[in-house]
Parts: sequence; structure tokens; C-alpha cells
Amino acid sequence: AVFVMGQKLTILHINDTHGHIWPEGDYGGLAAITTLVNQVRAENPNTLFLHAGDINTGVPESDLQDAAPDIVALNLMKLDAMAIGNHEFDNDASVLAKQMEIANFPFLSANIYKDGEPAFQEYMITEVGGIKVAIVGFTTQETEILEYLYAKDYEWKDVIEVAKEIIPELEAQADIVIALTHMGSNPVLAGPNSWELAKAVDGIDVIVDGHSHTFYERPEIINETIIVSAGEWAKNLGKLELEIVDDTVIFVSFRNLPVIAEEIEPDFAVATVLDYFKKAGGEALNIVVGETAIRLEGDRGVVRSQDTNLGYLICDAMVWKTGADLALTNSGGIRASIEAGPITYRDILTVLPFGNTLYVLEVPGTALREILQYTATREAGQGAMAQVSGVTYVIENKEAKDILVNGEPIDDNKLYKLATNNYLASGGDGYEILAGLSGYDTGFVLADVVVEFVGEISPITSYPDSGRITRK
Ligand code: ATP
Ligand code: ZN
Repeated sequence: AVFVMGQKLTILHINDTHGHIWPEGDYGGLAAITTLVNQVRAENPNTLFLHAGDINTGVPESDLQDAAPDIVALNLMKLDAMAIGNHEFDNDASVLAKQMEIANFPFLSANIYKDGEPAFQEYMITEVGGIKVAIVGFTTQETEILEYLYAKDYEWKDVIEVAKEIIPELEAQADIVIALTHMGSNPVLAGPNSWELAKAVDGIDVIVDGHSHTFYERPEIINETIIVSAGEWAKNLGKLELEIVDDTVIFVSFRNLPVIAEEIEPDFAVATVLDYFKKAGGEALNIVVGETAIRLEGDRGVVRSQDTNLGYLICDAMVWKTGADLALTNSGGIRASIEAGPITYRDILTVLPFGNTLYVLEVPGTALREILQYTATREAGQGAMAQVSGVTYVIENKEAKDILVNGEPIDDNKLYKLATNNYLASGGDGYEILAGLSGYDTGFVLADVVVEFVGEISPITSYPDSGRITRK
């Protein structure tokens, strides 16, 4: 009898890096990951290195440079492919096009269409050693809801339908089919998550996933598909070892390697390039723009469940800048707290990383009632939970009542001026009523308006944090 040894294939992967590419706390960032990747490649040249999406939005030095630092580092690391994540739609299409142009690796997604055609490269076929590998990208359909502003320009096809067509074609051409997905393993607002994809579609050997920021201790195996993911923020490097015998894929081992700064020598070239970018992006951000004696609360768990002083401050800044009667913003757009002490430009960009602009809309009293009623139906944890200025009301049994605009009972026949951000103004987070109203984009960047306002009111010694939306 002849015993045929299989070929070894190693898949290294990261996901949801969101600009966290520099050393941070205990973690060593991409320069440390490069060292690990190079070690593994030296052990087994049949190694793939993949990113499961969401390079954008989260660290000001990266955000200000449209994630160019991230992409240049990934080029140096010889990334093989990236899935397109929902946050790749945080900026307009010209930014995404520029990012794809500077990348030496493809941005893959098979279920995003434009004018009836796939909008991006759907898959790649490559040979690793003697192994023919197909890698296909899929992007969560909830992007259409989460990234309303720029994702609405595309057609978001059902991932399962697309996969049912494309996977058999890839199986015919390759020994192993890898789905590089940005779908997550949590419940989603639209379409399947990665586990549901594995269950519904045969023939996917491996899913390398992102989106839910899930740290896998061990792979999830569903319908003979091996599913892995590497947490978030480049804190881990996923390492999946396989053996391929003909076109049978055998699981050997999996580990999420921790990227501990103290234990891993950073790669010199990647560290040098990233240092340069950090300085280039960082200088302007260290300017102190104000000062606070109290903590301004923007932690996700708090700001998405109740009024906070930071929510008020942001909405007050919106009214201050525009002269509107009232302001409304989505708590999901508030991404961090500000600690007591000096406040830098960087701190404010960390709170408001989306580059939102300010809109002023004309709202009849009747429509304002509907908008506030919608906020009353939102649940703790949802990004759509509201923060306001210039209006007070009570929420009881999911009903908005006792509405006062600047102290006066709401007048159904009056036209109010409402300041909001561009995301909500175009119907994001379910605020569809806003999209139907007339108004204009002031062009002011919300973060810059808050910088200006903080300068005006500093030093901040106290700030209200209750009394506008009273939840009973
Ligand atoms: P992940 O990093 O896993 O993809 P996510 O950011 O997609 O997470 P959440 O952290 O729940 O998911 O954030 C979604 C919320 O972010 C939305 O409900 C909305 O409130 C807010 N949001 C998303 N995009 C924008 C934007 N462009 N402007 C303002 N707010 C936004
Ligand atoms: Zn995501």
C-alpha cells in the first residue's frame, strides 16, 4: 500500500483591527504580528495571511490618514487578501477606491453589487505549494443598515444565495475553499451570520470570520466547515493548521496567539514605517482644546441606555453652532468617554470618529412628535438611542409624552429647526422620517464643532446629565 502524506497548509488571520496597529497597552500591534507571521512562514512556506475586514475607524492617527498606515503595513506583511467589512463604508466611495489602489492585496466581497454587477473582486484563486486555494469574500448584509450613509449606494445581495452559486464553482477549481467573511457569530439585523452561512451552504472548508470581535478558544465546526476568528484590535493572531490530502481538508490545530508586546520583538521595517505614520498623524492631535474637572460619560453601555453629560454637551454644541431650536444625535455615534483633565483634539476625535457633518432640518411639530416617538421605542444597547438638546420629554411604556421644546409645549403647527448629524439626516439608525424632511448640510464637521464648543465653555467644572429624556 502507498501512504500519501498530505500537504500542510497554515492560515494566519486577523480581523476588526480598526486602526489599532500601533503598540497599545500590553499589545504589540502589527510590527509584533509581522514577527509572528514571518516565524510561521519560515516553519511552513505554505502559509496564507488573511484579514477578515474592518480596518477603518477607531484610532485618530489612522482615521485622519484614511487607514493608509494600516494598508502600507499590511502590504509589507504580504497580506494575501482582506474581506470588505462594514466599516469600509464609513467613508465615501472615493476613500475606499484609494485604499484599494494602494493595497497590494485584494479587498474581497461577492455579495455587494452595483448596477447589476459585483462591485468588488469576489474571490481569488492561488496556489500555495502544490495546493490550489480559493478564497471568497462575504460581507454582512446588516452593513446596509449600520453604514446607511455610504452603503446605500450598493445592492446588498443575500449571502446564502450568492454562496450557493459561487461555492460549487470554486470547489471545481480548488482543493480547498476558504470563505473570508465579515459576518460575525452574533445575531445580525439582516441576512445570515457566519454560523448560519456554514449551516446553509455545503462545500465551504474554512470560514475565517470577523465583525462580532469574537475571540475563539477553539474552532466552531458546523456542517463540516471549520470556523475561526481572532477577536479584535490586533490583540491576537489566529493560527489554523490544516492538512490537505487530495481535496480533503483535515483539521490539525488552532490557536489564537496573543500578541504580547513584551514577548515579541517588533519587525524593524514595519515598526519604522508605523512610527513615521504615527508622528505624521499625531502632531496635530495633541493640541489641548479645553479642560474638564469631571469625567464626560460616553461609554457604550451607559450612553446607549440613558442621558449623559457628554451626550448633552455634544447636542448643546450642535444647537450653539447652528442656532437650531433643538438637536438630536444617535448614542451609537458617541464612541468613548473623556476623562477629567486636559482635553485634546485626539480625545474628541476618539469620541466622534465618524467624520459626521451637521445638518439643519425643518421639522413640523407633528413630525417632531413622530421622531421623538421613534426614540421612545428604541431599546438600551441600540445605536439609535437618542441624546438631545432644546427639548424635554418623558418616555413611559414606549410612549413619548409631555414634550416641551425650550420649555414650551410642542406646537403641531410650528416649523422647528432641528440640528442633527448627516447619518441620521439621511435616515440612518431607522430615522427614516428625517430623510424626508427639507434642510441642508452645514458642512461643519461635528467633531470640529465640539472642539470649538469645548474651547468656549472650558474649564468645565460641572455639566447636567439628566432631565431631558426621563425614562419611567
Ligand atoms: P463592529 O466593529 O463589530 O462592526 P459596529 O460599529 O458595526 O461594530 P456598533 O458598535 O453596534 O456596531 O455600532 C453601530 C452604531 O454605530 C449604529 O447603530 C450607529 O448608531 C453608529 N454609527 C455607525 N455608522 C455611523 C456613522 N457614519 N455616523 C454616526 N453614527 C454611526
Ligand atoms: Zn464590523
